[in-house]
Amino acid sequence: MNPADELKQVAEAVSVCTKCKLHYSRKNAVPGDGPVNADILFIGEGPGFYENEQGLPFVGAAGKLLDELLSKIGMKRSDVFITNIVKCRPPGNRDPEPEEIETCNPYLERQIQAINPKVIVTLGRYSMARFLPNVKISVIHGQPMKMRGRLIVPMYHPAAGLHQRSLMSAIEGDFLHLPELIDQAAQIPEYVEDDSNDNDGSDQATQLSMF
Ligand code: URA
Ligand code: SF4
Repeated sequence: MNPADELKQVAEAVSVCTKCKLHYSRKNAVPGDGPVNADILFIGEGPGFYENEQGLPFVGAAGKLLDELLSKIGMKRSDVFITNIVKCRPPGNRDPEPEEIETCNPYLERQIQAINPKVIVTLGRYSMARFLPNVKISVIHGQPMKMRGRLIVPMYHPAAGLHQRSLMSAIEGDFLHLPELIDQAAQIPEYVEDDSNDNDGSDQATQLSMF
């Protein structure tokens, strides 16, 4: 299927999904938003109050900060694809539960396959853990890891910077490195799925030695 149609189908499926209990309290599911050919995919945690109202990702305070950070590197919202690890709002903005994350994951997986971004920026611990389990964000934020032909760049969630001002300079610093990482990622050869050997460590993240 062509990638644009696939994204559309994911959005349609998400809008009526009842696979986990988050569907009971949602007003609007938030599949994500952005161009199908985006080089960079941001993955946040989950919709909050305003996202649930509007059905769009990052439209509240954290989203405003995200827009400001993007503009500092000469990018606009419409240049990037933004989604979340769970597509429906956890009640009261509680943390998403492991079961909810796992149940929702196939939608995210399909989005990643369709967009095929060269860079995935994870915002916060939950989306980071999907790619990089057992690491601490305070230790590895901003460090690109190579995985399946792309770079995974873990970053603090923008909301963390709003709640804890001391993190703001780390967030800004990590953002300022993004253009360089996007250039570097463009040099990484396309990953080719190899069914003949499913034990070649290709899921293993490797630190990019040139940084
Ligand atoms: N925080 C998130 O993680 N995602 C959103 O969409 C909005 C706020
Ligand atoms: Fe479905 Fe994901 Fe919403 Fe749960 S969070 S109901 S799995 S779309």
